[in-house]
Amino acid sequence: MMETSPLIAAQDPLVGDYRQVLHWTMKDKPAQVIWLQILAIMVFILLGLAFSSLAIHLGKLPETVKFGLPEIGTTLAGIMATILLHELVHGLAMRLCGARPQYGLLWKQLMFYATSPGYGFRRNSYLLVALAPLVGLSCLAVLGMFLLRGTNWVALLALCATINGSGACGDMWLGSIVLRYPKSAYVVDEKDGIRVFMRSD
Ligand SMILES: [Zn+2]
Repeated sequence: MMETSPLIAAQDPLVGDYRQVLHWTMKDKPAQVIWLQILAIMVFILLGLAFSSLAIHLGKLPETVKFGLPEIGTTLAGIMATILLHELVHGLAMRLCGARPQYGLLWKQLMFYATSPGYGFRRNSYLLVALAPLVGLSCLAVLGMFLLRGTNWVALLALCATINGSGACGDMWLGSIVLRYPKSAYVVDEKDGIRVFMRSD
């Protein structure tokens, strides 16, 4: 079904009428959300193997990693920082594209988000917004492993990079959806989904 809904603002001056050609939201797609969770677990395992291998070879991971109470605390703090940083990078990319991001937490799904409702991103800019945390934070983690090689930090960086990558499954999923539309389409990001708009004529 086609819905008509105005774009409040966009990356370019909007000329003419735009119609909404897609409204994808998590609550309308419970089956896809379950698939996404299964995919996230598989990606977690694969990335876990990849980043562990980088930690061993590039990061010269010590053979024995001490893991007591302080390390548990540091690990939990690292995981929390990764989740927040992931959303912050989405927000930075949104800002780079002229939007004003808002941050929050979806209590029901226990999911942090960065969004800019009503703002139309060019399709390719939306891809940048969606993939910036995956690419940016993965590169930072690998650089960190190299700079801190030989220390316990390498293990934490590998874990955080794995969590960040598996958390980006939804971003990749949405990226693959918007790629079905031409690059002249505009994408509006919402807390729990996206809307795609195209010119009516
Ligand atoms: Zn994300």
